[in-house]
Amino acid sequence: MADGAFGLSRELERETAPVWAKVKDHVTPMEWPAQAALIHEINALKKTRDAVILAHNYMTPEIFHGVGDYVGDSLGLAKEAARSKAKVIVQAGVHFMAETSKILSPEKTVLIPDLRAGCSLAASITGADVRLIKQRYPGLPVVTYVNTTADVKAETDICCTSANAVQVVEWAANQWGVDRVILIPDEFLARNVAAQTHVGIIAWKGRCEVHERFTAADIAEMRAAYPGAEILAHPECPDDVLAASDFAGSTAAMIDYVTARRPRQVVMLTECSMAANVAGDVPEVQFIGPCNLCPHMKRITLENIRDCLLNMQFEVTVPEDVAERARLAVQRMVDLPPPAVPARYDMIKARHHVAVELI
Ligand code: SF4
Repeated sequence: MADGAFGLSRELERETAPVWAKVKDHVTPMEWPAQAALIHEINALKKTRDAVILAHNYMTPEIFHGVGDYVGDSLGLAKEAARSKAKVIVQAGVHFMAETSKILSPEKTVLIPDLRAGCSLAASITGADVRLIKQRYPGLPVVTYVNTTADVKAETDICCTSANAVQVVEWAANQWGVDRVILIPDEFLARNVAAQTHVGIIAWKGRCEVHERFTAADIAEMRAAYPGAEILAHPECPDDVLAASDFAGSTAAMIDYVTARRPRQVVMLTECSMAANVAGDVPEVQFIGPCNLCPHMKRITLENIRDCLLNMQFEVTVPEDVAERARLAVQRMVDLPPPAVPARYDMIKARHHVAVELI
């Protein structure tokens, strides 16, 4: 009976009230009844299907706060996939993330609500490209960002994320006894890592279509309009953007920064939903644009998550021989001691000369 707020039943209103409290600045009262009903339906289906939902930081707030069992960055989610006892993993994220979950949890059914949820970085390079790179630079270790396909990971010595890339590059140089490392496919991440280490970097010209669009001019405009705001940038942004920011770090590092320091005003130069999701936990912080939307992440909706669980679609598989080799590369990274805090990209240290060879 619809006797609660928003025309919801009292029971549904009560059940979804904690979610509404976190999403109310991003969802209109007109949208909420349909979303509350979907959240209820999805949470019930998870029990029937013995499923968990892994929701990336770039999911919209109603997904992130409403149905995500685990939330975080791509690697954190893949580790949760492996730890979870559930039979079914629903990846509320993009395709390479679902592949990584499958690589680490081969016995589980991994589903993605929309098979078209891709990634410009993952699409920038193939396994065949990596084989050619290895022929051109024999003896150098290949470090690959986790934002890549299983085929690419299978050709890789060790994976990295933006939170541990400097640590992994230095580990690889040390283990191989070399002074240069191949770090692919994100050119900007590679340049930003190069600024933090004396290991030489060979990079590929892949770009994240969300982060490459930020410019140092955006920052100058924000500083003029909001002189007190602290500006945070993701290391997939161009290097001059990081240099003009107050802080640069992975999504996890940015969350740590905001929750620990609670600046009055903050600008997060990353995907729009990230700020919206963090805002739910730090209501006293004012988040100011600009941000950019990832069209691939935005393919995932409450509706297609519901359909995914109802129809057990769309399953993501990885051929076992590819998965086995890719697992080695991911596992090597997982086995490294985690950084005490997610890496920040230190702009003072970054002033040394940086040599990057672009393939
Ligand atoms: S935000 Fe960038 S790296 Fe992440 S999925 Fe979208 S295009 Fe890929």
